[in-house]
Amino acid sequence: MIPFQEIGYLIGSVSFVLGLKMMGQPDSARKGNLVAAFGMGMAVIAALLFNEKGYHEKGYHVINNIEFIVLAIFLGTLVGTIIAKRVQMTAMPEMVSLFNGMGGLSAALISLIEWRHYMLIHPEGEESMEMALYIPVIAGLIIGTISFVGSIVAWGKLNGKIGDFRFPSQQFINALVLLAILVTAALNYTAFNASHSSFYFYLTIALAVIYGLLFVFPIGGADMPVVISLLNSFTGVAAACGGFLYHNKVMLMGGVLVGSAGTILTVIMCKAMNRSLMNVLIGMAGGNGGGSATNASGGSVREVQASDVAVMLKYAGKVIVVPGYGLAVAQAQHACHELEVLLESEGVDVKYAIHPVAGRMPGHMNVLLAESNVEYDKLVEMEHINSEFASTDVVLVVGANDVVNPAAKTDPSSPIYGMPILEVEQAKQIIVLKRSMKAGYAGIENELFFFPKCGMLFGDAKASIQKLLNEVKSL
Ligand code: NDP
Repeated sequence: MIPFQEIGYLIGSVSFVLGLKMMGQPDSARKGNLVAAFGMGMAVIAALLFNEKGYHEKGYHVINNIEFIVLAIFLGTLVGTIIAKRVQMTAMPEMVSLFNGMGGLSAALISLIEWRHYMLIHPEGEESMEMALYIPVIAGLIIGTISFVGSIVAWGKLNGKIGDFRFPSQQFINALVLLAILVTAALNYTAFNASHSSFYFYLTIALAVIYGLLFVFPIGGADMPVVISLLNSFTGVAAACGGFLYHNKVMLMGGVLVGSAGTILTVIMCKAMNRSLMNVLIGMAGGNGGGSATNASGGSVREVQASDVAVMLKYAGKVIVVPGYGLAVAQAQHACHELEVLLESEGVDVKYAIHPVAGRMPGHMNVLLAESNVEYDKLVEMEHINSEFASTDVVLVVGANDVVNPAAKTDPSSPIYGMPILEVEQAKQIIVLKRSMKAGYAGIENELFFFPKCGMLFGDAKASIQKLLNEVKSL
């Protein structure tokens, strides 16, 4: 008989790998997403339509209630499509966080529902669970729960509904809760096998919920990206545990890919933010968050007009644009590209400096600028562009703040201290496009705005760039 299910799983797995590979390049990323989605579709079809084989004599791997599953898929697809269509570009990170949380919840539910099915019944009526099965059950439960709770808190923090929450000895307590989870998980195994008690099982869940809350609540400053990426990898690992339990190779494969890709991204982000992974895990990273208004500390800023900036730009040899979260808010990417094309036609060399955590999700700026057809080789990563600022005539900071804040290098008390930044202060002139003197995500003042060679062009970034376009054209 033809092993349709295995073939479907194989196509699914290969599509995941190919899709992930394609997502590594901005020009093939969209197609990569589609390829991976196709793979997931194949995996779901293979799991549902060709499941008559079953994997276990007990029969519980054979899928029943197909009609409910199809209904759930239909409703999930409907809700997901509506949310994804309606979401504003600026709210994307929140949506990603919410969807990631749903993945974690699903993985935790698998363990919660399935653990009883993995109890072995001995001839004398005794019950026990093999260690090899217990580990994926409990790991899926713990990691999935932390990922779910943590992602919901991250969602609340990103949309400003949840503020920072700190109390004395927080790191110590976080570490203690983490340890308690491991201890109760071990005790639970013994209790399962000896007394059939599930007390420790539910205690483990409660502790995982507490840890999920405590771990993300204090994260602030500029460290949310690291946490989001870490939670993403947690969901992957939890899903892989489910795949292991169900002997479902494509689920295992998908989970491992998400887990490992998320872990690699987390490590890269930690490096970019100059944080250690352990600090993030016990909630030590970051300071304040939320982006509130701050007052200038004594210095005064130099306000400039679009007409003056247009002259600077038109007669510059080299201009670097530093996009930030404000570019996304203003949806200024198309206007920005238009300005770039206009300046290039005037013989100006224009590039974009991409900070790894600019915006509100990894790759946020790349996605926005790709949407407006900026050529990929114009997007230069931080480590490559920093040496170019000294030879740059004008840096145009478009809605960026934390990623150009020199306090990261000079002020050890700053919550972003140690994070590598775009060293725009080395350029001859800096022009910042933002609406006010309000702080960015880390909620801290930016000394750069008070530097003598920095000019502030106040207003919505899109409107300001439109003005610049008109002024340059009229010169
Ligand atoms: P920031 O959040 O530091 O600053 C954005 C600036 O944009 C604000 O100061 C705001 O000033 C300005 N702005 C907002 N709307 C507009 C508008 N319509 N027109 C013009 N300006 C506008 O952004 P950065 O990109 O510099 O830094 C990203 C921050 O977010 C970092 O701290 C990072 O760690 C954090 N973060 C990043 C994530 C990621 O994965 N990339 C995820 C979560 C957090 P004003 O109000 O005065 O206009």
